[in-house]
Amino acid sequence: MEQKQYRHIGVSLEQAKALMEQYLPKGERCKELVALPEALGRIAAEDYISPIFQPPFPRSPLDGYAVRSDDIKGASREHPAVLTVTEEVDAGGYPSSELSRGKAVRIMTGAPIPEGADCIVKQEETDYGEEEVQIYQEHPAYDNYCYRGEDFKKGDCLVKKGTRITYVELGLLAGMGYDQVSVFQRPKVAVFATGDELTDPGKPLLPGKIYNSNLYLLMGRIREMGGEITASGIVPDNEEEAARVLKASITKADLVVTTGGVSVGKRDIIHGALEVLGAEKIFWKVQVKPGTPTVFSIAERTPVISLSGNPFGAVANLELLVSPLLHSMMGDHSLLPRRKAVLEDGFPKGGKVRRIVRGYYRDGKVYLPKGLHSSGAISSMRGCNCLLDIPSGSKGLSKGDTVEVILILGMEAGIWN
Ligand code: AMP
Ligand code: MG
Repeated sequence: MEQKQYRHIGVSLEQAKALMEQYLPKGERCKELVALPEALGRIAAEDYISPIFQPPFPRSPLDGYAVRSDDIKGASREHPAVLTVTEEVDAGGYPSSELSRGKAVRIMTGAPIPEGADCIVKQEETDYGEEEVQIYQEHPAYDNYCYRGEDFKKGDCLVKKGTRITYVELGLLAGMGYDQVSVFQRPKVAVFATGDELTDPGKPLLPGKIYNSNLYLLMGRIREMGGEITASGIVPDNEEEAARVLKASITKADLVVTTGGVSVGKRDIIHGALEVLGAEKIFWKVQVKPGTPTVFSIAERTPVISLSGNPFGAVANLELLVSPLLHSMMGDHSLLPRRKAVLEDGFPKGGKVRRIVRGYYRDGKVYLPKGLHSSGAISSMRGCNCLLDIPSGSKGLSKGDTVEVILILGMEAGIWN
């Protein structure tokens, strides 16, 4: 009976992503200006072009003497070139004059090379002279010479709009002199777990109850993905009550994520709750295991994605469906990285439906956790850094088979135990 209410039933993962993109409310994403340190993990909302050359001046890569290469031609320990030291320039200082023939400037790493000098002799190749220096080694022009702008030039675009700001971009932005960064606002996400069996951690566990893992799995991963959690909690298995809680959060959220209650049981209340809300029901059931009964709807212009209650079903589809949606909402153009990998452990279970299996990817190989692979099991997710994407119709996989894996962003390294 629920079936009639959905526009699409049983879509592929690709169709699901396309439908979500299609129904996502359009419009320019909101930007905000944040202080540089706060920009970590955010998405740049503008191109950042360098107003300066880096380094801004030719500089010395070592401690030594700035000289004219012509003046040290043929220099050796037996026949040193003898030059008059005119001044000392340290990092942060600036040479007072051009270097003329027969002269040297004592120079430290990072200090500007005076005009006229075209190479640096490291101090170990000299007698460390203070007024006069003996140079024991000849160098061609521009040896040990860091050019102005050799790292980046004025006008170079170093951080493109849509780039996720990692510590590297943070360093680049600082290196260009930006102390504030325009970033896209974090999508505001409301997360709810449904189920009368759920107990908040910290409370005693009564008979028949379980602790609410999913809420924390989902909130944690959504925050890692760049979302801001604006509301969260448990919704009882009651359609009216669920609709009431969802309604209160919807207008304040850019996205609502729920878990549980999406299957065909008597207590699978999401279908009814969405009906009470007057949501537009876009699709139900994605052709993938686990997490098949995923629902996507739009309530008051806000996308609502309802994931399975089984923890791994919820997490897998969070990665496969919610992550691209959040990326798109954040203006992040990075894709879920896919790799081909050779299986180091067999996975005998085949099946008609495309299957997502957790694993650990390293150096072109993928390993499977030893623990329980069931969609209800959480413990074997520890240390996993990828999802194996096993196509429909698989007859089971053996060690040595090649599979496609999706890397879980931020977990690339993994911690295998
Ligand atoms: P459901 O999708 O509501 O039928 O739930 C499927 C299975 O996942 C059941 O065994 C539930 O008890 C379990 N489950 C549902 N929600 C959660 C949750 N928030 N945390 C942990 N397990 C859950
Ligand atoms: Mg339930």
